[in-house]
Amino acid sequence: MIIRMNPKSSKDDFDNLKKYFENKGCKVKDISSDSVKLYGIIGDTSKLDPDQVESLSGVSEVTRITAPYKLASLQVHPEPTVIDVNGVKIGGGTFTVIAGPCSVENHDQIVSVAKDVKEAGAKILRGGAFKPRTSPYSFQGLEAEGLDLLEEAREETKLPIITELMSEDMIERFERDVDIIQIGARNMQNFHLLKEVGKRTTKPILLKRGASATVEEWLMAAEYIMASGNQNVILCERGIRTFEKYTRNTLDISAVLAVKQLSHLPVFIDPSHAAGRWDMVEDLSKAALAVGADGIIVEVHNDPANALCDGPQSLKPEKFKHLMEDLRKIAPIVGKKM
Ligand code: PEP
Ligand code: MN
Repeated sequence: MIIRMNPKSSKDDFDNLKKYFENKGCKVKDISSDSVKLYGIIGDTSKLDPDQVESLSGVSEVTRITAPYKLASLQVHPEPTVIDVNGVKIGGGTFTVIAGPCSVENHDQIVSVAKDVKEAGAKILRGGAFKPRTSPYSFQGLEAEGLDLLEEAREETKLPIITELMSEDMIERFERDVDIIQIGARNMQNFHLLKEVGKRTTKPILLKRGASATVEEWLMAAEYIMASGNQNVILCERGIRTFEKYTRNTLDISAVLAVKQLSHLPVFIDPSHAAGRWDMVEDLSKAALAVGADGIIVEVHNDPANALCDGPQSLKPEKFKHLMEDLRKIAPIVGKKM
């Protein structure tokens, strides 16, 4: 529910309004602009009577938000959200490229890939330290040591770093040492973890779409983080599971358009996990830019044939450089800054 207050309404009117909603178990969020006094009502408003709300002193208009997500919705926040990561802007007309290996393997690997992707124009370095693997016998990541190595790569290149958080017991370390926290596809509906990152960190959260999640379920997952206190959410489409087996997943490119119609949050595409094969990554990345995504997160490895995770979908640094050259040519045509 959105409440527009009369411009002449008083502080007492606002205090009454706040008390009214708090008694009903809802929160009042100030979403005013310079010219209008607007408040979003967060919580279960389904049983509230809009006529009764409209009769409260100082209220001039009540609009119901029909979507089940509120903070994530475009209705509550009509301007696109722009997130600042150590000076790197995400959203609002910029196309941001995040690149790096699936997992951090050793010092030389992560530093060498970090230098290569930086030189090619990537703005943020990715690298998994805690890996969610289908098999318990596969490489699980270097864990805390992987974070140390990522920090070393950041020190050498000055690129901000993103890595996946799998468990709440690492939140303090991530809050201190990581620039963007990834919540992976497998944890998109780990509601406890979503609430914890909402409460305990203000770092931006890149929220991957679950492999079988609808756009609405994905936005509800973002809502969990936002309703718990952290508004800095970046969505990431990484392919969904369909009957098709030729690719690892099916890239739902229209999900970007759906999110843009429904939400103010930035939305990225991960062409690597979507396709599962490096030979499609360049073209899918161009499609991401053309469809209006705010950026991509791409896997790049210096030696894909011997990568400990996701080698078949990783670009070699030369291919990545070529991709970046093409993206820079396309960006102005589709009205994006790079
Ligand atoms: C990853 O980014 O390495 C990853 C595991 O992604 P997803 O959660 O999309 O599978
Ligand atoms: Mn991977």
